[in-house]
Amino acid sequence: MSANKVSRVIEQYELTGVEESLVRDWTQEDDQRRKSIRELTSWFNQKLVMVILDEYTSGMIPSEYTIEGITKRLQARDSSASKYDDISDREIMTVVQWLQDNDVPVDDIIDDLVSYGTMYTYLKEVRGAVSPDSQPDQRSQEKRQSDVLESIRTDFSKQPERINSRLRTLRAHNQLPGTKADIHISVECNCPACGHAQPIADYIEQQGCTECEMHTRDELTPDQTNHGSHEDRDENTP
Ligand SMILES: [Zn+2]
Repeated sequence: MSANKVSRVIEQYELTGVEESLVRDWTQEDDQRRKSIRELTSWFNQKLVMVILDEYTSGMIPSEYTIEGITKRLQARDSSASKYDDISDREIMTVVQWLQDNDVPVDDIIDDLVSYGTMYTYLKEVRGAVSPDSQPDQRSQEKRQSDVLESIRTDFSKQPERINSRLRTLRAHNQLPGTKADIHISVECNCPACGHAQPIADYIEQQGCTECEMHTRDELTPDQTNHGSHEDRDENTP
């Protein structure tokens, strides 16, 4: 029997396959698909609530609720964290009341929801998983810049098709020519200091503004100053 709460909850609620998903999504090499501790914790807690509701209400929830909303309100009940400030006591009470009306053991669920820290300990210490985020980034400056630029281009690559499908209504009403337009997307950013507009590729390659002093061109990056030590993202800190 493991003492870690995540292990216990997985076992108790028979959350099969969840261990593998957590480890896989945390250690995913692909930056785009890798999930943070924050995302995994929220996914896990929602999964737990879903399994419990399956048992007590056959998975039925009032149409004005979502699993995410129910989970958040339950977390908010016993927490004073500022991230729950926008959830009112009345909202919490309504959800709790509805759960109690369906005989759902509310206090047990709230006890079984896990925190970021618990999830981090589970992945790191119980499962021995290592996130690529916590390893030194071995890429060269140029490679890191081109990887980021590439992922931005991937984000935008589907936009022309989406825009064209939005234009379909106008084409259908003869408010545009019938042939699809050739749409190009370019991303520009404005310097926060001087306002100069520049293509995102220049901004990345020049390490900041191409016009004024708002750049890091003459500064060493952390891996040039100290052998690749890496600050943990805040969500990875137990
Ligand atoms: Zn500037």
